[in-house]
Amino acid sequence: MNTTIRIPEEEMARQREYASMFKALPGRPETYHIVTYGCQMNAHDSEKLAGMLEEMGMKFCEVKEEADLVLHNTCCVRNNAERKAMGNVTWLKEIKATHPGMLIGICGCMVQEEGMADAILRRYPFIDIAFGTGTVYKLPENLYKAVVSGRRNIAVSQEQNTIAEGVPILRSSPYQAYVTVMYGCNNFCSYCIVPYVRGRERSRTLRDILAEVEGLQKQGVREIMLLGQNVNSYGKDLEEHISFAQLLHEVGKTGIERIRFMTSHPKDLSDELIEEIAGNKAVCRHFHLPVQSGSNRILEQMNRRYTREAYLDKVHRIRSAVPDIGLTTDIIVAFPGETEEDFEDTMRLTEEVGYDSAFTFIYSPREGTKAALMPGRIPDDVASERIQRLIRLQEEKTEQFFKSLIGSCDSVLITGNSKRDDHMFTGKSGRNISVNFENTDYSIGDIVNVRFTSYGKTTLRGEIIKE
Ligand code: SF4
Repeated sequence: MNTTIRIPEEEMARQREYASMFKALPGRPETYHIVTYGCQMNAHDSEKLAGMLEEMGMKFCEVKEEADLVLHNTCCVRNNAERKAMGNVTWLKEIKATHPGMLIGICGCMVQEEGMADAILRRYPFIDIAFGTGTVYKLPENLYKAVVSGRRNIAVSQEQNTIAEGVPILRSSPYQAYVTVMYGCNNFCSYCIVPYVRGRERSRTLRDILAEVEGLQKQGVREIMLLGQNVNSYGKDLEEHISFAQLLHEVGKTGIERIRFMTSHPKDLSDELIEEIAGNKAVCRHFHLPVQSGSNRILEQMNRRYTREAYLDKVHRIRSAVPDIGLTTDIIVAFPGETEEDFEDTMRLTEEVGYDSAFTFIYSPREGTKAALMPGRIPDDVASERIQRLIRLQEEKTEQFFKSLIGSCDSVLITGNSKRDDHMFTGKSGRNISVNFENTDYSIGDIVNVRFTSYGKTTLRGEIIKE
C-alpha cells in the first residue's frame, strides 16, 4: 500500500488565508506570466498556478518582460527542454536588472531533480522562488513569505506523495478541460526521469474526479482529457479498488460529451478497458499507445515489460473491438546499444501498425536513470539518419491514412479560428486529427459533423455537414 498523503482541508484553508493576506499587501506584485514546458500534466499544473495567482489578486500579463512575477514551470524529460528552460531563466536575469521589482520563480519536474535545489541556491541567485512538484498547492504561502521577507524562498522538498484537492484552476478553454486522475508513476522505464521527479502512483478518488467532471459539464465543458502518467493503472493504490475501465464508465455516465485520456502503458492495457472503450460512446476514437521500440532486445533494456508480439496483440485486440480507433505512439530512436537490426524492427513495427501519427525522439540521457549509465551510445549522425528514415516512413503512412479518409465524416469540436485564415475554423476530430473548415453558422465550442475533402501534411480540410 502506498503512503499517499491527502492534504487536509485545514491546510488548504491555510493556503486560501495566505492568498487573502497576499491580496491585501500594499505594493505587492500585481501581474504574472507563466512559461510552461513539457507535457499536458505540466500544462494543467500551469492552469493551477494561474488559478492560485488569480485568487491572490494577480492578473495575467501577456508580455513576460513586463510582468511582476515570471514563473517557469519546467520539464526535465528531455535534455533540450531543460536547457531551454534554464537558458530562458538566465536571460530573464538581464531583464530583471531593468525591472527591479520583478520576481523570478521556477517550479516543475526540473526543480525536483537531485542537486537542483542546491544549484538554484548557489548558481542562480536571481531566482526568488522555487518549489517542487508535490508542493504546488503551497504557492500562496511561498510567494507571500518571499514578498513579505524580501528574501528568496527556495522550498524544494522531497514531498512528492501528495494529493491536493480544491486548488483553484484557471482553465485555458471553456470547452475543453484537463482532469487529473492520478499522479506519479511506478514503472521505472530505464530512460525515464518521471518516477524520480513526480513520485509514486497515487490515484484521486472516484468521488473527487466525478465531482470535478460534473462541475465542468455544468460550466459548459464538452470535452475532457483524463490525465495520468499511466492511466491504465488507475485505482490500484486506492483502498476501494476501481479500474480505469470502471472509471471511464462512471465518467461516461455524467453525460460529458467527449472523453479522452492520456497516457497508457501497453503492459497495463486490459481487455476490460478495450470493451469499455468499444461500448462507451463518449470515449473519443483515439488511443495513444507508446511503443518506444519495435525490438524485443531494446524493449527489455528499456524495462518496458512487454514484447513487440504482446504489443501487436494488444493493437490487434483493440482494432478488432473498435475498428475506427485511431492509434498514435511515441518512439525513441538510438537508445544505447540500438543496432541497425533493432532499428529495422522498429521500422517494421511502425509499418505494420500503421499509426495515424507518431511522436519520434532521439534518445536523450537523463542523469539518475539506469539508461544514462548504459554503454553503446549511438553517434549523432547515425541517430539523426535513423530518425529521418522513421519520420519519412511515418509521413508516408499518415498521408496514406489521410487519403483514405477523404469523403468520410467525423464529429469535430470547434476550438478556434484557423491560424492561417480567419474565415476558417479549426478543431479536433474524434480521432484527434486537426481539421480546418469553412466558418459557417456555428461557433467556437460547437461540435459539428465534418466531411473531409482534402489534406495537408498534418491536417485535414473539410466541410460542415448540416444535420
Ligand atoms: S511509464 Fe515509463 S515512460 Fe511513462 S512516465 Fe512511467 S517510467 Fe516514464
